[in-house]
Amino acid sequence: MHEVSVVTSIVDAVIDELSKYNLEKVNSVTIMVGALTNLGDEQMQFAYEIVTRGTVLEGSELVIEHVPVEVRCESCGYWGPVSMLTDPDYETHSVPILSCPECKGDIKVVKGMECTVKCMDIEEVE
Ligand SMILES: [Zn+2]
Repeated sequence: MHEVSVVTSIVDAVIDELSKYNLEKVNSVTIMVGALTNLGDEQMQFAYEIVTRGTVLEGSELVIEHVPVEVRCESCGYWGPVSMLTDPDYETHSVPILSCPECKGDIKVVKGMECTVKCMDIEEVE
């Protein structure tokens, strides 16, 4: 399951960051997940629960925010959202076909590939 390795690296990074604080508890961790990452919410939640067991993050909530795809066109300069034309085999091959909505040119994805920690809701020991 792809989600487990992604969640593991996120959790590792978060725990590393939290080691700077004198923690009472962690309420939640909010992550930004791009539409192109192909990560399922349910699988992420499930993986999070398992990966955080026995850590400072155990029992905290994983909040997932979705980041829509944004592209930049090399030919006409278009910058913005794009509707995803998916390959008929998308489910199995998982590579959506993206092209510029203005000129159908080749585009570069500027948003939607990321999976990053946005913020953490923690309580420090007084
Ligand atoms: Zn274009």
